[in-house]
Amino acid sequence: MHLARFPRVFLAHLPTPLEKLDRLSKELGGPEIWIKRDDCTGLSTGGNKTRKLEFLMAEAQAMGADTVMTQGATQSNHARQTAAFAAKLGMACHLLLEDRTGSNDSNYNNNGNVLLDHLHGASTSKRAGGMDMQAEMETVAEKLRSEGRKVYVIPGGGSNATGALGYVNCAFELVSQANDRALVIDHLVTATGSAGTQAGLITGLKAINAGIPLLGIGVRAPKEKQEENVFKLAQLTAAKLGCPDVVARGDVVADSSYVGPGYGIPRADTIEAIRMFAELEGILLDPVYSGKGAAGLIDYCRKGRFKKGERVVFLHTGGSAALFGYDHVLTGDAAPVAAQ
Ligand SMILES: *Cc1c(COP(=O)(O)O)cnc(C)c1O
Repeated sequence: MHLARFPRVFLAHLPTPLEKLDRLSKELGGPEIWIKRDDCTGLSTGGNKTRKLEFLMAEAQAMGADTVMTQGATQSNHARQTAAFAAKLGMACHLLLEDRTGSNDSNYNNNGNVLLDHLHGASTSKRAGGMDMQAEMETVAEKLRSEGRKVYVIPGGGSNATGALGYVNCAFELVSQANDRALVIDHLVTATGSAGTQAGLITGLKAINAGIPLLGIGVRAPKEKQEENVFKLAQLTAAKLGCPDVVARGDVVADSSYVGPGYGIPRADTIEAIRMFAELEGILLDPVYSGKGAAGLIDYCRKGRFKKGERVVFLHTGGSAALFGYDHVLTGDAAPVAAQ
């Protein structure tokens, strides 16, 4: 398993720290909780897309691209990290932002990640929710190509087999850190959306026979669909690495019970998780991904599904820039979030 065979632009601050969450562990009274700080990957407030982009942007460079395109929700962290990476490499960047929440809140539409997209010099255009965003990207890319641009199109979330290599790499990094401190990891938990993070992690974990079960907490799709998406991408990733069939369908586990009313809409347990991490550990989560992932983690601890004495690692995938687009659900006397 030799990742050096794949082109890569080294930009992320790696390895990200692996830290123990003493106060949160005590508060929940169950397992020992650790956190893998992929919110600290270094690029424009950090996040999980940076690891994927190290491999994707290397491909873009190899094909001589002068322009990159990608798509995501209005408050997409992936769009923001792509814009920053493109700035660093001197490429133009165009982002298609899908209105998945229907929010007309001014900060949601202009602040947080959207503000940073523009600061990094990216251009953005909006699309209505539910459109075929991949098709929309191809249409825009064709237009740019007809104007003489060399366009590299990155799928939503950077989730293809190339991007997932970033999380194969994360799996190796995490296991190596755990080995160095004799930390036996009983469970690894992460938010899962466009599937690249979970697919890369499970491929890496299985490829080195780590024996660490991985739980993805869904943020959008129902369980079955999410697991299928992750499994398909894991198979492609394993094939790319030269170890096809290393991931079995049963290795892919997602729980979509914490999505609530829909993608990008936090509910009471999302907000509670954000507050707990902020107040007990000084760590910023986000209302779309890591807040929901952490709500799942907290619930599994409370229900005894993660047991006393076990060691659980929560992979923090970043996203705190989106907090500034969600002040309306986070400030003191805000309207109540959707009921659980
Ligand atoms: C994109 C994202 C995720 C989900 O990762 P996928 O690879 O899309 O499944 C989780 N957390 C944050 C903060 C993200 O931006």
